[in-house]
Amino acid sequence: MMAENTPIHEGLAEVRRRIDQAARDAGRKRDDIHLVAVTKTFGADVIEPVIVSGQKMFGENRVQEAESKWPGLKASHPALELHLIGPLQSNKAADAVALFDAIHTIDRDKIAAAVSREMLKQARSPSLFVQVNTGLEPQKAGIAPQDVGAFLARCRDEHGLTVTGLMCIPPVDQPPSPHFALLARLARENGLSNLSMGMSGDFEEAIQLGATHVRVGSAIFGGR
Ligand SMILES: *Cc1c(COP(=O)(O)O)cnc(C)c1O
Repeated sequence: MMAENTPIHEGLAEVRRRIDQAARDAGRKRDDIHLVAVTKTFGADVIEPVIVSGQKMFGENRVQEAESKWPGLKASHPALELHLIGPLQSNKAADAVALFDAIHTIDRDKIAAAVSREMLKQARSPSLFVQVNTGLEPQKAGIAPQDVGAFLARCRDEHGLTVTGLMCIPPVDQPPSPHFALLARLARENGLSNLSMGMSGDFEEAIQLGATHVRVGSAIFGGR
């Protein structure tokens, strides 16, 4: 067990302070902004003290890695919320629905159908976000901005899914704010209230533009 004053506690406290400040600067309610602490590559020994210090929402980007550390942590801390923020393959849909309380990366019909099937079968209902490829990057997952409305309609009408938000990962070589603004506009146009955007390098800008879920790893836990 780590001491109370380790760098991770400082990192977490500092990120919380910066979120408080960004919320004030944007004239937003602090309670409308959720910190998803991204724990990929870190083990349960590092995560446990962060849970004990009061952090409730965590993010992982791989189903298999999450399965190796979270079932035990969730069993001992039932109030935790675990969010899948990385790509989902359809053969992992059952595992993802069983373990995660939110999935940020619904990005094609095949995944929407597989998640829908598993939600019925397991009687589980994780919160769902559609990933949007705001930069139209060929190597990146996500629905193209111009296809978001049609995809959301298919999620609802064909797959029976209730999607509550949108998620994006802006291109690394561009200023993020135009991408956050685009995601916010798409959410508004489609009547969605949740916006998963902003990482260690840009979560303040994301909050300025309406983020409800910021996904922050290295600013809390250090480099990977
Ligand atoms: C790793 C990861 C993050 C967190 O990135 P940091 O720069 O470490 O804050 C956020 N979102 C996704 C999808 C990630 O994979």
